[in-house]
Amino acid sequence: MSMKKLFNNISYLYKMQDDTYMKDAYILVEDNVISEIGQGEYKGSSDKVINCKDHLILPGFINVHHHFYQTLFRNVKQVQSATLFDWLKYLYEKWKHIDEEAVYISTKIALLEMIKSGVTTSSDHLYLFPNGNNKLFDMEIKAAKEIGVRFYPTRGSMSLSKKDGGLPPDSVVQSDTEIMQESERVINQYHDPSLHSMLRIGLAPCSPFSVTDEIMRQTAEFSRKHDILIHTHLAETRDEEDFCLQKVGLRPVDYLDELGWLNKRSWLVHLVWLNENDRKKLHKNNCGMAHCPSSNMRLGSGIAPVTLLKDKIRIGLGVDGSASNDTNNMLSEIRRAMLLQRVKYGADAISPYQALRFATVGGAKVLNINDYAGVLSPGMSADFIGFDLNRLEFAGGLSDPLGALVLCDAKQVDLSVINGEIKVQNGELIIQNLPELIEKQNRKAANLLAKK
Ligand SMILES: [Zn+2]
Repeated sequence: MSMKKLFNNISYLYKMQDDTYMKDAYILVEDNVISEIGQGEYKGSSDKVINCKDHLILPGFINVHHHFYQTLFRNVKQVQSATLFDWLKYLYEKWKHIDEEAVYISTKIALLEMIKSGVTTSSDHLYLFPNGNNKLFDMEIKAAKEIGVRFYPTRGSMSLSKKDGGLPPDSVVQSDTEIMQESERVINQYHDPSLHSMLRIGLAPCSPFSVTDEIMRQTAEFSRKHDILIHTHLAETRDEEDFCLQKVGLRPVDYLDELGWLNKRSWLVHLVWLNENDRKKLHKNNCGMAHCPSSNMRLGSGIAPVTLLKDKIRIGLGVDGSASNDTNNMLSEIRRAMLLQRVKYGADAISPYQALRFATVGGAKVLNINDYAGVLSPGMSADFIGFDLNRLEFAGGLSDPLGALVLCDAKQVDLSVINGEIKVQNGELIIQNLPELIEKQNRKAANLLAKK
């Protein structure tokens, strides 16, 4: 017997298939899938009814770049105003102490804060395995399962440390052999390519400069052979461009092309420093992009040319690691994605609707899960969020409720449904022992920062 949940009296329903809404709508969910969307009164039977009067409902947000563990290192005073390289050099010395408990707690904290801001699917990029502790990856999967979010972690890696001219300490990098063995292990153990999958795995060397060329090439090869997505940091800062030109005589995008990485299975994060040729290459090869405006602003990295790319490549949004943001707030990421583009490209660069598309259907296309996530229609996974339009911040701005989310700065969701399960209701996260979890996280963060 399936469980039927009826979400009715929805004042405004945006399916994100176009810029229009349905009024007085309902969504019927059977187990974890949307079975019906309609208008007016639903005539059939249901096991549970959730009244969505005065609510705006839309698809849940998809976060396509993050480093959950960094939630333990947000707002570190010594690097509050550092540039990327200085920020990394300082924090690696702290990050080298992360352990299973750190990953487990910080994953939960990051996910809960994201769920509160509308995220129903999240990616993560874990690339540090201090002292070869491969279990860290399993810990984040365990924590995400307990929270019940749709999860797309990427097994990251670093193989070049200080002794090879890289930035990280020796204890956090691994050998090429171990990286590839572990990549295979986690994919065999966890990757679920089925429809409505709650867990898929990607591979993500930290950046082309923190691993050997060999690992980059092997990863691309593996991806083609087994139909696995690949992800990495690219063209984040001007320093990186100079470094790349000096080291290999190529621009970052050209270098990645040479490593066999430009294709429909790769999605690249940042892409701030691109010239016209770089943009054409990304378009031609159907690459995906993770845009992280808060991180780019926070580290002074620059303004990514999203406006020039938006009709050409698949673009999703990422809150990025909470040490460079320093929040897990997807709503503010959406607003900043819109505002930052306008600083460079003018008031009509990105509309509120376009910014919300990046966070929903855009992210789904980047993660290649758009056959079950990103828009609302029968047959899609039941992942959606609701906003109570009676909240203070919307007062006076309801002529266009969807635009109000972005322009009036929505603070949090009032309803969140992930895979048919209610995660937020009446604005409250449905979780036990949240204060205890917060206390554990604070204790762990203080403990890690105190280490030398
Ligand atoms: Zn990142």
